[in-house]
Amino acid sequence: MNNASRLKNKHILISGAGVAGPALAYWLHRRGFTPTIVERAPALRDGGYAVDFRGEAHLTVLDRMGITADVRREQTNMGAMSYVNEAGRKISSMPADLFSGDVEILRGDLGRILHRVTEEHVEYVFDDSIVSVTEDDRGVQVTFERSAPRRFDLVVGADGLHSAVRGAVFGPESRFVKEMGLYCAIFTTANHLGLDHTGHLYNTPGKVVGVYSARNNTEAKAMFHFGSPPLDYDRRDVGQQKKILAEAFAGNGWETPRLLKAMWDAQDFYFDSISQVRMDGWSRGRTVLLGDAAYCASPLSGMGTGLAMVGAYVLAGELAAADGDHLVGFARYEEAMRDYVAGCQKSADGVGKWMVPDSRFLAWFMTQNYKLLPYLPWKGMIAKSVRRTADAITLKDYGL
Ligand SMILES: Cc1cc2nc3c(=O)[nH]c(=O)nc-3n(C[C@H](O)[C@H](O)[C@H](O)COP(=O)(O)OP(=O)(O)OC[C@H]3O[C@@H](n4cnc5c(N)ncnc54)[C@H](O)[C@@H]3O)c2cc1C
Repeated sequence: MNNASRLKNKHILISGAGVAGPALAYWLHRRGFTPTIVERAPALRDGGYAVDFRGEAHLTVLDRMGITADVRREQTNMGAMSYVNEAGRKISSMPADLFSGDVEILRGDLGRILHRVTEEHVEYVFDDSIVSVTEDDRGVQVTFERSAPRRFDLVVGADGLHSAVRGAVFGPESRFVKEMGLYCAIFTTANHLGLDHTGHLYNTPGKVVGVYSARNNTEAKAMFHFGSPPLDYDRRDVGQQKKILAEAFAGNGWETPRLLKAMWDAQDFYFDSISQVRMDGWSRGRTVLLGDAAYCASPLSGMGTGLAMVGAYVLAGELAAADGDHLVGFARYEEAMRDYVAGCQKSADGVGKWMVPDSRFLAWFMTQNYKLLPYLPWKGMIAKSVRRTADAITLKDYGL
């Protein structure tokens, strides 16, 4: 067990109150550090689709945080999802056991749980963003868009795919973010199809639109994926992003017009490229990156949220084990996570092609494939490969 009085570098600024940031704050506080979180949004960000926890490492972290029961209480309990034709008739189903993890929860619900278990001990500063990080021998001087400058011992960038910390300390996004040729959008809407713990998907070449029930069928999530070369748009301009989506799906059949109409009123609209972050190193001096900011595996991996939570556990654990020595702690964090991250990123290879087929033939082939999947030999192989990726890390017990 580490000795709190021996700890160095106690004051730690975390950028981002998504998943990785609050999870790290939880562990840092528990190990004797004093974390502060700065979040650009004015309040906790809701929205996003269901995220999965898969395998021993994910479940162990939830357990050690004492939030397994909370997560299970709010799990989605989704059944199989169906592909439908233009008239809404079911063509085939994707088996739930293959595509959902061990526990599935809406990202927004998970965010609220993480906030609840940290808010008492962690200072949250909303509606602000780090502008610059200047390091000297004793710590870092941080300037913000709105707050007065402050000093901290260490800075953690847990601010997602488009991390401001990564931009300020490591260099421009274009060096690290690899777009995978797809964009995705998701927002909450009415469950007008009366879906009962299920979802419907409709695909046309280069596009998939879907809707699935959420929060015990009281609402639904509309989701859109489409293939596109990199788009030039303002990430803070939601109106512009909605326009891009409306144009990409103009003329698309099935429920698309109704969903697009609802989109204009959606308060939790999420839009982004499907990308990975690849970096040779995740720390520089007193700054370290965590979660999507460092090693986004993309939604195609189905591992991103668990990866962020495991990373938070390991980073806080290694830092505490090194009595706060950041050079040692950061290096051990990276060593413990590298292979696991590589496996999770690799698991996304080729997934986009079958999720959003770019031709009529491939779209047809994939729906037939799902129909036959329960009887095909590769169902077991897919399941095994998912397990292997999820179980590719053995978590240390850092005590406490
Ligand atoms: C609103 C939202 C919806 C999402 N929906 C999906 C989804 O549907 N499917 C999916 O696969 N992934 C989604 N993601 C990404 C997913 O949450 C992450 O891949 C994963 O959970 C890893 O979490 P993270 O904490 O590293 O990153 P994120 O969950 O992306 O959290 C990053 C946080 O940093 C904040 N932030 C960004 N810039 C700054 C800044 N300059 N200063 C301070 N804070 C900043 C963001 O507002 C966010 O709260 C979504 C992310 C967000 C923010």
